[in-house]
Amino acid sequence: MTQTSITRSWVASANGHTDFPLQNLPLGVFSVNGSAPRSGVAIGEHVFDLEAALDAGLFDGAARTAVEATRGGQLNAFFELGREARVAMRERLLELFVEGSTLHGKIEAQGARLLPLAANCVMHLPAKINDYTDFYVGIEHAQNVGKLFRPDNPLLPNYKYVPIGYHGRASTIRPSGTDVRRPKGQTLPAGQAEPTFGPCARLDYELELGIWIGQGNDMGDAIPIGDAADHIAGFCLLNDWSARDIQAWEYQPLGPFLSKSFITSISPWVVTAEALQPFRRAQPARPEGDPQPLPYLFDQRDQAGGAFDIELEVLLLTETMREQNLPAHRLTLSNTKHMYWTVAQMVAHHSVNGCQLQAGDLFGSGTLSGPQSGQFGSLLEITEGGKKPIELASGEVRKFLEDGDEIILRARCSRDGFASIGFGECRGKVVPTR
Ligand code: CA
Repeated sequence: MTQTSITRSWVASANGHTDFPLQNLPLGVFSVNGSAPRSGVAIGEHVFDLEAALDAGLFDGAARTAVEATRGGQLNAFFELGREARVAMRERLLELFVEGSTLHGKIEAQGARLLPLAANCVMHLPAKINDYTDFYVGIEHAQNVGKLFRPDNPLLPNYKYVPIGYHGRASTIRPSGTDVRRPKGQTLPAGQAEPTFGPCARLDYELELGIWIGQGNDMGDAIPIGDAADHIAGFCLLNDWSARDIQAWEYQPLGPFLSKSFITSISPWVVTAEALQPFRRAQPARPEGDPQPLPYLFDQRDQAGGAFDIELEVLLLTETMREQNLPAHRLTLSNTKHMYWTVAQMVAHHSVNGCQLQAGDLFGSGTLSGPQSGQFGSLLEITEGGKKPIELASGEVRKFLEDGDEIILRARCSRDGFASIGFGECRGKVVPTR
């Protein structure tokens, strides 16, 4: 059964669904009516309850083994099983939900027990995240931010040799919908010699792709670049909320610390590598004069198809806009093609020194801005550090985020001859400091 031959599902809301048609089948962890968190698959407006389906005898063989590993409200053990298990589960899900499936009646007869409405479900983090690493591979963002500080020399000399990253904080990663409490911290007011302490005044978002690690590696062993893609379980959207005033004062010499660790929001559905297969593309050729990647970061197959064409969008909805029933304001329309390094290069680089990656680790790509106005993935870039406020249809202006502002990330993959898929939303509303 090829992806193109499947056009319709008997789940009516899946057909033409913006995010979750039959061709996507992302995994997540949900609860419904106060149940314990359990694993499920998004299809149209519904969530297919994998644990209930297992109990109903809908899986056997390799697919059953795969679904068994999703039990317990965390997908780590399933991620650890790797690609073959994912494919076995996906093949079976396609059989179950394709239009004309012989199991249509059996599934539908169980109604909401097997297919609750997504609107009735609460989403959780899909895995226990032991470690979180934030990269900086969005070269346009790196240049835009670099220009604010070093107009003549925006990129530091290591950028085109090293997939730059730092270790983030896993304990404060939260699923879409979790409020974002304005952090407090030290900042250095302009022209002052000593810092003050108080609520962040320059709260920002960062539009990033999240990367879920599947099979890990033993400490001391590196993951070769040619194998690296097989160590990725799937993808999500990630908002690396950033307190720019705290960041400016604290970041030298070791990089961001408390300016980033107060919360990181992710979209709760894990979009698999298999669902994204039609939207892979060649890594864009490096501009003339750029160095070739060192051999441990270079693989011909990865260069030929290791990048993605995923459209990324950021929307802002203020309290006043909600009260006036105004539509959300689009801040950013960008694309994953602005990644200077592929996800496989990130995995190879992260493990090259023997660092252990484990199933359920999460990477952020770094902010994925485009080169032009309208494509910038943070307010720092859009307002040039607060110098050029944006105007909203409500008459409000913004340099950075105010209390009550909600940021919504979306992603969409489209290609002629293929069903479009999306990631589901990553939302977060700013609430006052405590
Ligand atoms: Ca970031």
